[in-house]
Amino acid sequence: MYSAPASVVDVPAQQQAPNPPARGLTATIARWFDTSARIERSGAELDRVDWLRIVPFIGLHLACLGVIWVGFSWFALWTALALYFVRMFAITGFYHRYFSHKTFKTSRVMQFLFALLGASCVQRGPLWWAAHHRNHHRHADTPLDVHSPVTRSFIVSHMGWFLTPRGFPTDHAVIKDLEKFPELRWLDRYDLLIPVLLAVGLFVLGDVLESHAPGLGTNGWQLLVWGFFISTIALFHVAVTINSLAHVWGTRRFFTRDNSRNNWFLALLTMGEGWHNNHHYYPGSARQGFRWWEIDMTYYGLRALAALGLIWDLRPVPAKILAAARSHTGSGR
Ligand SMILES: [Zn+2]
Ligand SMILES: [Zn+2]
Repeated sequence: MYSAPASVVDVPAQQQAPNPPARGLTATIARWFDTSARIERSGAELDRVDWLRIVPFIGLHLACLGVIWVGFSWFALWTALALYFVRMFAITGFYHRYFSHKTFKTSRVMQFLFALLGASCVQRGPLWWAAHHRNHHRHADTPLDVHSPVTRSFIVSHMGWFLTPRGFPTDHAVIKDLEKFPELRWLDRYDLLIPVLLAVGLFVLGDVLESHAPGLGTNGWQLLVWGFFISTIALFHVAVTINSLAHVWGTRRFFTRDNSRNNWFLALLTMGEGWHNNHHYYPGSARQGFRWWEIDMTYYGLRALAALGLIWDLRPVPAKILAAARSHTGSGR
């Protein structure tokens, strides 16, 4: 059975600052800006929501209410939608299918550019994300899976798990291949920087457009609220449905040891990640929709990047698994 350690310093050795682990207000606030800030936690504290640390996360949600004051423009809406889909692709194509599963190859520059785009989604850095995801596949829907809706509550599987001290650290043992890159370690450490730059950039763009293209009807505050806050919160809650809903809602084509599901609705919203039972059955392919009608926008995007020569060696679904997919349409259980 799973048992919680009595005490942890939830930052690994290679990121540790020379000073001893701290407790209290300043240490927690330091962690907003530097994920290597060391904090000592123990016992039941590990599974309690760390309210002070998650103030920025709560703030992101509350900032969406700014829409009451900033109003609407088509330009702001299209900006929000574009940033939703482009950044969803960075999460699904790169944080998931590249960093977590290595289902294709790319250059170091492309790897970093998409890591930056992924980091702008406020879902931490690529090392933290990939480490948790690799452990998810290893322990899916067992007590060791920190975001299983089967062994934990639905709300914990959706977002409660990373709000606690237990969900904060990166398991460096499972991402040694990614830690070779200092730029990725840097991004993981200062992961708040990129979304802040995106938010500031959107504000400045809106401000410039207000004076130079008044016909668009937008301004700095409006573009900040729609383009950053609303887009980011929608992207976040949809992306994490793959941890929560995609393990309880949908059909099961393949027998897997977990409770993963295929769900066409989630696949449309997440650009292909909703074919989650397929993915748990064969996580090694760049493609997750195994039938022609299983729409997988991320895979089509990856094919386009491959056609441009920006990524290569996309790992296919083995023929015998495709044949099995054709003969099983799903049990519904
Ligand atoms: Zn899963
Ligand atoms: Zn996966």
